[in-house]
Amino acid sequence: MSWIRVGDTFNSAPEFMRAAELAVEREDARLVSEIKGWTMALYSYSAQQWTDYRIGYGALVEIIGLTRAHDALQDLIKIGVLRDVSTDSERAFALVERESFIHIIKSTDKKMAAKRKRDMNKGSLQIPVLLRDGDQCRYCGIEVNWNDRKNDEGGTFDHREPNEETTPDNYVVCCRGCNQLRAELGGDAEEELPLLDAPDEPIYGKYIMSKLSKWRRIVTRTCRQMAIPNPLETTERAGTRHPDPAQASGPTATSAPTTQSQELAGTQSAIDPQFPARDNDDRAGRAAKETPRDPAPSEGAPTSDHDHPRTPAPTGTRQPDSEPQDDTTTPAAPGARPANEPTRPVRKRRRARRRSR
Ligand SMILES: [Zn+2]
Repeated sequence: MSWIRVGDTFNSAPEFMRAAELAVEREDARLVSEIKGWTMALYSYSAQQWTDYRIGYGALVEIIGLTRAHDALQDLIKIGVLRDVSTDSERAFALVERESFIHIIKSTDKKMAAKRKRDMNKGSLQIPVLLRDGDQCRYCGIEVNWNDRKNDEGGTFDHREPNEETTPDNYVVCCRGCNQLRAELGGDAEEELPLLDAPDEPIYGKYIMSKLSKWRRIVTRTCRQMAIPNPLETTERAGTRHPDPAQASGPTATSAPTTQSQELAGTQSAIDPQFPARDNDDRAGRAAKETPRDPAPSEGAPTSDHDHPRTPAPTGTRQPDSEPQDDTTTPAAPGARPANEPTRPVRKRRRARRRSR
């Protein structure tokens, strides 16, 4: 389906002011209306045929009619609606591209939209990206809301190399605000809003867990490849009452303090200390994030529980009664920071910078 949008300043466009001058000069009362009619007809042809604002001479003659085509062409060029872009092999004209005048969708935009849709339905592309980035925007660090389809906090994906094949390497989780801002910044986007490292401990909220549960096989394979724990298995092993995380009705926690998280997670931590999911909690990743962890083995730190004390669990909660497994399965995020280094300040800094713009 073609798509065309006429700007609300269409009638007062400078092109038509020039047409009015021509009309006065020639004492031709119908000229402005004729020119507006031709203009609309040419744009709608381009939209319908996906010619991206280009009109071949043949099409122009067909639209305007043989008897008027020559004069109309001269006038349309004179007032600035058309520009001659003929080559040796083809006689063609370009319509002015201005959103406030008449905006049509280009075939490249249409292809991009179709590609985005395809990408959204491709598990082999989405799963590695969601597992790596979780719910966090890779530019400002905020936790995106995947159900929000309008506001800045809404979850989107950013294809960092639009002209190249989409791969997990050039596809990142991005909030709508950053996505739009990067589009506006154009060539300055990389400098103004550079890519942050993938989170050390990604947050997997309801949306992501539901996506993961739809593509179980891909998740299993990808987790093996990335050498990270499978969030589906960890959640299920932790005795979650809702095998399908999409069905989980737990509270959508925002940012619980560490001690509270520990308290709530207490009953689960014996089963899997790495993802101590609380009851009804679909946010396995978050729980892991908020629970004090042993330093990553890459630092050469001992991994036994006795060698470095954890935050004591509040009275009344169950202590782990089995030896927790060590952290050798920590997600191997590129440029990983030590697991106990806080990542929040980065998030706040980025956010503040964007707001100040
Ligand atoms: Zn963002």
